[in-house]
Amino acid sequence: MIKQQNFLYEDDLFNQQYKNPPAKPKSNNKEEIKEYIKKLTEFLKFHQYLYYIKNQPIISDKTFDEKLKELEELEKEYPEFALEDSPTHLIGSDLEQEFPKFEHKIPVLSLMNTYTVKEVLDWAQKTGAKTFLVEWKVDGATLVLYYENGILKHGVTRGSGNIGDDVTPNAKTIRSIPLKLKEKIDLIVRGEAYMTYSDFERFNEEYGSIYANPRNLTSGSLKHKKSKEVAKRPLRWVAFDGYIQNKNFTKDSDTLKYLEELGLPVFQDNIVCSLNELEKTIKEFEKKEKELDIPVDGLVIKIDDRELREKLGYTANSPRWAVAYKFEPDLARTRIIAIETFVGRTGRITPRAKLEPVKLAGTTVSYATLHNEDYIKKLGIRIGAEVLVSKRGEIIPAVEEVIDPGDGPEYKFPERCPSCNSKLVKDKDSVDWFCPNPECDERLIQSLIFFCGRKQMDIDGLGEKTIRTLYNKGFIKYIENIYELPKYKNELVNLENFGEKSVNIILDGIESSKQKEFRVVLPSLGLKEISFNVTDLLIQNGYDSIDKIFQLVNEKNAKEKLMEIKGIGEEIADAIITQFKDPRIVERINKLRKYGLQFEQKKADIDTNLKQIFKDQVWCVTGTFKHFKPREKALEEVLKRGGKSTSSITSKTTHLLVGENPGSKLDKAKKLGIKIITEEEFIKLLKDN
Ligand SMILES: [Zn+2]
Repeated sequence: MIKQQNFLYEDDLFNQQYKNPPAKPKSNNKEEIKEYIKKLTEFLKFHQYLYYIKNQPIISDKTFDEKLKELEELEKEYPEFALEDSPTHLIGSDLEQEFPKFEHKIPVLSLMNTYTVKEVLDWAQKTGAKTFLVEWKVDGATLVLYYENGILKHGVTRGSGNIGDDVTPNAKTIRSIPLKLKEKIDLIVRGEAYMTYSDFERFNEEYGSIYANPRNLTSGSLKHKKSKEVAKRPLRWVAFDGYIQNKNFTKDSDTLKYLEELGLPVFQDNIVCSLNELEKTIKEFEKKEKELDIPVDGLVIKIDDRELREKLGYTANSPRWAVAYKFEPDLARTRIIAIETFVGRTGRITPRAKLEPVKLAGTTVSYATLHNEDYIKKLGIRIGAEVLVSKRGEIIPAVEEVIDPGDGPEYKFPERCPSCNSKLVKDKDSVDWFCPNPECDERLIQSLIFFCGRKQMDIDGLGEKTIRTLYNKGFIKYIENIYELPKYKNELVNLENFGEKSVNIILDGIESSKQKEFRVVLPSLGLKEISFNVTDLLIQNGYDSIDKIFQLVNEKNAKEKLMEIKGIGEEIADAIITQFKDPRIVERINKLRKYGLQFEQKKADIDTNLKQIFKDQVWCVTGTFKHFKPREKALEEVLKRGGKSTSSITSKTTHLLVGENPGSKLDKAKKLGIKIITEEEFIKLLKDN
């Protein structure tokens, strides 16, 4: 255990020789091989540190695994050259000093990796097992929960496998983790903390993030020193393994069923299959992966028979009764042509790489995000570099790895805003540069684009291009100006490329946005920390109108009252109070209210006069409708008749109402076997009942 200390490298090791794999020896000269083994060991230890301790890998898992395999083989051939602290002997550790250490009651071992279906089948055959349990290998961070007498006592990271960090206060902020089980039992349950792609995307949009992917954000969040910060982050958790005292299940799948009965989240996709069905099952999972909103990097295949497991036992590092099957990530090789920077509505400056266009996951990619200045430095990115870019799920492509930095000059981050030329500023703990100018043209334009966006007010006709034109011609500058546009109809019609028809679309869009609920209006304003999530928390806790919020922030104990709400910490409370007391913001809101926007949450209560035909159903909606404008009106009908509504498709969704031009929700619903209803069918349902 003590040996792990050897992995604690200092930050200054960034920028040095271990960034790239060492060159292979040209001959079989023993001295050369010895030196190569030493360098390879250092290389792997360095990247293991970046991965497990820093949560900032700069090479792909595949490269790491390949190099680890190479070292393993060399050590077999030349055992005399193997180093005592070789990473092949130890499992990676993520120990940190800030959290109390916790010794796992059952060591958390890593799984043997396989990369081809054949490897999996060979392993499966060798075990002699008849049935296998196939589960998603979620790309998050392992979190083991310890329940005593049915109460959550500890949430512990994997750590070295033997000793982890006790992050209980953080674990308790994760909504999918029950603090109390349905039975008073002692239980150790392993699971994975993770974040969906859409939550990750939303989080990045709202807060800006230095994290490259949901996994990094998840493990970074688990070890965040302030649990109230963790509460802001949309973490989820799913169980994959349980150890229950006095209950001996013969099959692992029965254990999982029991975990579910206790109130723990378990994936519904888990499948038990025979050896003959294994190949087909793996292929089916692989097909499904493209549609998943959950980041997965492969499958876990376990023997379902617990008795056989005991017999097979363990190797030094991993169980013999399970393997991980890793999917190939979608990576493409290309070259950086230029590095550009953008300013967003909050003033944050984001760099992105212009790429030589390359095919990736079925689309042509010409740009990839570079996150921030630190990321560029750490990866050693410069113009002309040959890089690997990845695209996972719906996330914008990112530069993952530099293959060849090229001989261009080192990239220098700009000191001034690309839009207004203000000198950029940086908060003490921030990795991001900001344009401090609230009147910065691009910031204002981005605020307007955000407000009108599909996920916010969804105003037809006001896309980015139109917004830029209207801004440049002086028609709109602030959000409230959008609602003054009808006054200028004649002037708009005469603008180049506009015309009566497109102006009517814009004005109709503006008009129908007035029907958007308060829970959508408030976060669309783009105020600091006032996200969809925070708005929902406010509404759920009785602050369901702007007047109630105005009243609250002027009370003496406003901060205490806000912080009593689970999920609202000090930072959010402060942001709510300062902004809703700011006369400029109050004036903007009052103007918007005068123009007819909703500043009070409508209660779409059950209407007892109607038959409760949608009881126990969960409805989602996609596309546009002839009769229901905006489409939320259709969901109101569902609520009135005892149903529930949801904004995204999950395993709980029972019906999808489909209009014209449906989005990706339709494909997802089809995959999940969710009932699909057209507008006509829906109207008929309402009429018949
Ligand atoms: Zn600026």
